[in-house]
Amino acid sequence: MDSEAVLDLFRDSGALLEGHFRLSSGLHSERYLQSALVLQFPELAARLGDALGARTRHLQPTVVLSPALGGIVIGQEVGRALGIRAIFAERQEGALTLRRGFTLDRADRVLVVEDVITTGGSTRETIDVAKAAGAHVLGAAAIIDRGNDATRVNLPLFSLAQLVVPAYRPEACPLCAKDVPVVKPGSRA
Ligand code: ZN
Repeated sequence: MDSEAVLDLFRDSGALLEGHFRLSSGLHSERYLQSALVLQFPELAARLGDALGARTRHLQPTVVLSPALGGIVIGQEVGRALGIRAIFAERQEGALTLRRGFTLDRADRVLVVEDVITTGGSTRETIDVAKAAGAHVLGAAAIIDRGNDATRVNLPLFSLAQLVVPAYRPEACPLCAKDVPVVKPGSRA
């Protein structure tokens, strides 16, 4: 699946919107990604998982670790594609943590999987969870990479598509300057 095919799946599912959006960060953008809208379709989730699995199989991971909630569905699909465990870390009092009896140890070779990577902050945090458990972290993978700095997680980073989306402070937003109404995505649901 090439990059355009991946973005088309997002567009066709309403997971990639074009307009004038107020993001949860407070910044404004002309595009909005909501990967849950493509991943809600099991067949599409499986295709994306197969594609990411093909991209990362050479690393020979033994377990997929994803940050909750966004990474869980695609993490499960990558785990299925590779025939390995898929577990997730979730926030407890602000910090990502392994709960529910999930474990990692020194024998584990971990692939961190997310739906979308932007700044890389949650990816780095997830990597740290695995390292703190003593596991070896091989790299990170995401369906869409929204950044343009391949070194920001300090490990090999794999993605199916790149989509660099400028975001603006409201006072510097070109769409606000044109009086285009701004929408908070998902708020009308
Ligand atoms: Zn704006």
